[in-house]
Amino acid sequence: MDIMTKTCPRCHQRRPHSAFAPSTQYPSGLAVWCRACQALDALVRYKRQRGYLGPDAWPPPPRPEPEDADEMRSVQIVMVIMLVLGFLLLVKMVVYGATLVEVS
Ligand SMILES: [Zn+2]
Repeated sequence: MDIMTKTCPRCHQRRPHSAFAPSTQYPSGLAVWCRACQALDALVRYKRQRGYLGPDAWPPPPRPEPEDADEMRSVQIVMVIMLVLGFLLLVKMVVYGATLVEVS
């Protein structure tokens, strides 16, 4: 990928550098938060100063689920199935062994 991206620490979204305002405060030359988060923060601060919002009215940042969560879940399911199958095989072997011992 040619487009340089950066993860916003507030909304946890990976965005292209163009989604971040330029800033001279940081060595990267980019603001820490993306433009959308900065705009939301400015709006919340403005409303709070005007008394429209309480001090705890900070909107919680959206936390997207990791993309590989589904994959992890299916791997866990497969592992559980294999564990159960292995256990059944063990039970079958024990039962088989017991009957063999009985027969002989
Ligand atoms: Zn953001």
